[in-house]
Amino acid sequence: MKALFLDRDGTLIIDKHYLHDPEGVELFPGVAESIAHARKLGYRLYLITNQSGIGRGYYTEADAVRCNERMEQLIGLGSRPLFAEICIAPETPEQPQRYRKPSPRFILEMIARDNLDPAQCWMVGDRDADIDAGLNAKIHPAALCTGKLTRADWAAIPAYRDVPVFDDFPAFVRTLE
Ligand SMILES: [Mg+2]
Repeated sequence: MKALFLDRDGTLIIDKHYLHDPEGVELFPGVAESIAHARKLGYRLYLITNQSGIGRGYYTEADAVRCNERMEQLIGLGSRPLFAEICIAPETPEQPQRYRKPSPRFILEMIARDNLDPAQCWMVGDRDADIDAGLNAKIHPAALCTGKLTRADWAAIPAYRDVPVFDDFPAFVRTLE
């Protein structure tokens, strides 16, 4: 079984600092079509999102869930669950780390639970923590330029010399088979 592990903010939707209002959820162009295409290619989809705003007390896990639901509604692929599993990591960098990226824990648990083939799995995101989570889990990382980092920023990180960089999520999905 092949799979995509997807970051949320800066990857599928516009990164709005500490987003907690579902009305603020905005998909990047082409994301809905790309999700549909990846699913048609047989990829199982997982969402893994760091939400330290929960740990900081800025908003609740229920707020994050509502934003996820709004995103799924905007993607608009019907009632079938879009993601095989969703992981919201609430801890701040200062708190004991459980699922917060760059931890590979969620990815490794899903590989074991759902019998995924790591050689056909990708971790897609806009930050170094996403890339490191993928590398730590020994699956393929894919870096996007729709968040904080530009193509030049990614290229300046020696540890990521072999990490493929894409302009946006649709550009990544176009390379999948
Ligand atoms: Mg992100």
